[in-house]
Amino acid sequence: MNKIALGCVADDFTGATDLANNLVRGGMRVVQTIGVPAGPLDEAADCVVVALKSRTIPAADAVAQSLQALKWLQAQGATQIYFKYCSTFDSTPAGNIGPVTEALMDALGTDFTIACPAFPDNGRTVFKGYLFVGDEMLHESGMRNHPLTPMQDSNLVRVLQGQTQRKVGLIDYRSVARGATGIGERIAQLRQQGVRMAIVDATSNEELVAAGPAWAKLPLLTAGSGIAIGLPQNFGLKAGDASAAQLPPARGLRAIVSGSCSVATNGQVKNFLEAGGEGFAIDPLALASGADLIAQALAWAKPRVAKGPVLVYATAQPESVKAAQAKLGVERAGALVELALAGIARGLVQQGVGQLVVAGGETSGSCVQALGISRLRIGPQIAPGVPWCHAKPEVAPEGLHIALKSGNFGGPDFFTEAFTQLARA
Ligand code: ADP
Repeated sequence: MNKIALGCVADDFTGATDLANNLVRGGMRVVQTIGVPAGPLDEAADCVVVALKSRTIPAADAVAQSLQALKWLQAQGATQIYFKYCSTFDSTPAGNIGPVTEALMDALGTDFTIACPAFPDNGRTVFKGYLFVGDEMLHESGMRNHPLTPMQDSNLVRVLQGQTQRKVGLIDYRSVARGATGIGERIAQLRQQGVRMAIVDATSNEELVAAGPAWAKLPLLTAGSGIAIGLPQNFGLKAGDASAAQLPPARGLRAIVSGSCSVATNGQVKNFLEAGGEGFAIDPLALASGADLIAQALAWAKPRVAKGPVLVYATAQPESVKAAQAKLGVERAGALVELALAGIARGLVQQGVGQLVVAGGETSGSCVQALGISRLRIGPQIAPGVPWCHAKPEVAPEGLHIALKSGNFGGPDFFTEAFTQLARA
């Protein structure tokens, strides 16, 4: 049996590929599975990232699914477990970061872990326990208006403490500046004070690489994808050769399905349409009134997709998201849109799309499920946190290239740049 070294549990699909991307870059062979596989791993890998869709489900369900993933990863030989969440610490007062962390700590019999969403490549930095998104604090960023997990407090010690009975502390920048030794000393100190989970300050990749050895002995790490760049060294691996990220040649038509309402995705949709790209908008209120927008979007796409990439989007500005939520409720609006976009993604692939970009974490989860994808090979990076991936679901027996973009990621021209890069690869 192939034994893995590192086992990861990610709370959404784009987050899982983001983490896998950083581990591949660091020299690990990574397989990403969609949900917990039924059988053992049948290919060589140093790490498996199990992608769940547990970020916004009830905390008890998120705990149960995460424990199931843990059990499978341990059965594949994982000696360290990594719980991956969003670099903007997406959660509600009910969780799920705190409850899942507690459950994994109990199952692993460990009394201490870290929580570090820092991802400097994408402008997520943590200083004195406060999370910054670019130059703004978390609560001032677009995340304050997120449809499902609005983040209105930037102090992560406080946010995490609100989700757990265990004492939360801080490994601050002074310890981090002293590298693994400074961090090790701070961990010993915090442990003595009864702290069980510690937020970690980090503002640069250099700090994250230097911190890596400090995490070697912790059975559980909880983080965004940033700390992953310091981990492969702990398993005797070095930044790998490019062949580790090689995918089969691109084929088929091109499409984008966007359900993210983040500031970045709104900009990417605008950019694509203004550059003359073809787009079809999905209105949640029309969906609620029973309109068959899946059929309409697919009929619209059919003559257009043969000519170039098409975009189907529910992406909207905060005011219009709020208006839809006020009428339908937050969950129903989200679920209606996700279901429609997932049906459209499947229909587009059936129309011959072989290169698909999906924008939005929850949206990606729904699309991947509707496409029947159970495993992804991780390829080259398009933008920090977003690699091209390759899958062979039943609906695309010749193979499908798919990029799962977390809402906030990617530059303004991401939708065109992704296809250009794939053609070059
Ligand atoms: P992100 O990665 O930006 O967080 P997600 O896909 O995870 O994006 O979350 C966006 C949520 O908003 C999804 O549940 C999606 O269905 C929902 N949504 C998308 N468009 C609209 C809209 N116009 N009105 C209300 N909700 C929407």
